[in-house]
Amino acid sequence: MHELKELYQQVILDHNKNPRNFGPLPQYTNYAAGHNPLCGDQVDVYAVVEDGIIKELKFSGSGCAISKASASIMTTLVVGKSVEEAKTLFDEFHRIVTADFDDKVETLELGKMAVFCGVREFPARVKCASLAWHTMVSALESSQNNEVTDNNLN
Ligand code: ZN
Repeated sequence: MHELKELYQQVILDHNKNPRNFGPLPQYTNYAAGHNPLCGDQVDVYAVVEDGIIKELKFSGSGCAISKASASIMTTLVVGKSVEEAKTLFDEFHRIVTADFDDKVETLELGKMAVFCGVREFPARVKCASLAWHTMVSALESSQNNEVTDNNLN
């Protein structure tokens, strides 16, 4: 178990240091901004959606290691997926970070996202881990500028 935790930490550190798909997209069809005032995390999500498929997804902004790593891993999971599949992944992710700590959670679908299972122990960190996901869903649901704030962030 200890080794597993170390592996999880490595994944978060790696994605924090070398975030994947980082930087704004010059052209995009969908966009939303997210803000987690509790920690000061800020994220912008840009997507190119064509025929219901997420062709490109990038993020920019600044925040703590957990928020950044979560955004980075999220982008690697949802590019190439349909909007519906991305929303299903969001539901799965939301379930693992908010489940009762004693609940066994199925994380196969989530791959590396499973590392965020550990935030269940730290309720204040759940918003850090879920900010990018809420912002992505908000971006996918509208092509208008969207803002995710503490009011609708869980
Ligand atoms: Zn944070």
